[in-house]
Amino acid sequence: MIIDLRSDTVTKPSIEMRECMHHAPVGDDVFQEDPSINQLESFAADMFGKEKALFCPSGTMTNQIAIKCHTQPGDEVICDELSHVYQYEGGGIAFNSSASVRLLQGNRGRINASMVEESIHPYDDVHKPISRLVVLENTANRGGGSCYNFDDITGIGSTCKKHGLSFHLDGARLFNALVAKNETAAQYGEAFDTISICLSKGLGAPVGSLLLGDTAFIKKARRIRKVFGGGMRQAGSIAAAGLYALQYNIDRLHTDHEHAKAIEAMLKEKSFVKEVVPVETNIVIAECESGFNLKAFIERMKEKGVLFFAISPTRFRMVTHLDINASMINHLQDTLKQIN
Ligand SMILES: *Cc1c(COP(=O)(O)O)cnc(C)c1O
Repeated sequence: MIIDLRSDTVTKPSIEMRECMHHAPVGDDVFQEDPSINQLESFAADMFGKEKALFCPSGTMTNQIAIKCHTQPGDEVICDELSHVYQYEGGGIAFNSSASVRLLQGNRGRINASMVEESIHPYDDVHKPISRLVVLENTANRGGGSCYNFDDITGIGSTCKKHGLSFHLDGARLFNALVAKNETAAQYGEAFDTISICLSKGLGAPVGSLLLGDTAFIKKARRIRKVFGGGMRQAGSIAAAGLYALQYNIDRLHTDHEHAKAIEAMLKEKSFVKEVVPVETNIVIAECESGFNLKAFIERMKEKGVLFFAISPTRFRMVTHLDINASMINHLQDTLKQIN
């Protein structure tokens, strides 16, 4: 038995999902003639109460397209220092958009309205880049799957409106937050100008992300998608997997969260674990006692079929997902018992 806790991207499409993929009607999506992609885009747009959606190969692409659409070269993007858009998209903000970045030190990846307010430059000050866009991440990956309080989001939204800034959400794991906090997609559609969601994380589709916004924005985004090399042709088969994921794989996310909670409890029992970042969704981050050989621990667990990553010399991360079941969680517990 392999227990793969490296990421929620490792899931394989289920039989039912593969059935949908197999039967999906397809067409040329660059001509907007792929019925499955059109269906997925309008389903997602309706879900969020947005006018339009755009299907893209990855969440990096949907975020980078959004940043490109919202900014001009030299403008400034405001985000938390742990943000995926800054940390894990290959310097794309500079590479693709020639934009400047203002990094804020939030709480586990979450920022608030007063921090944003303080970071906005006076428009008339020619010394400063023009503050243009605020990007939030929910759940926050490097924050250990932490969720925003919705009030904080609307507070930041008001600040953006007041100063004429655009407001984008990196919602790669937004559905984990919706389930954990009992919130709706429509609330988020109303709060943000644009949203990126991933179908290939907790939702278990093999590939794909969606960018959501108003008609004018998505028209512009479609052009940028082509420039970035993301115009796909008969991609309806993967869109069908995405549609299946949105229809059937959201409600079950609470199971992943329960599994993550169970892992948190197990790790707290271990003498080598100094602290576990409080689990809110499907990501568990633990800090080891100093002097503990984390590398050797990861190797030993790997020999026993449990896979996960170190995210720093003293921290490791375990992520639950729809290919992790209750018996794997029990097996993990037994395996951990063998290690002191
Ligand atoms: C995974 C992820 C993305 C997008 O990643 P891709 O691998 O490019 O799909 C964006 N933001 C966050 C927070 C992520 O975890």
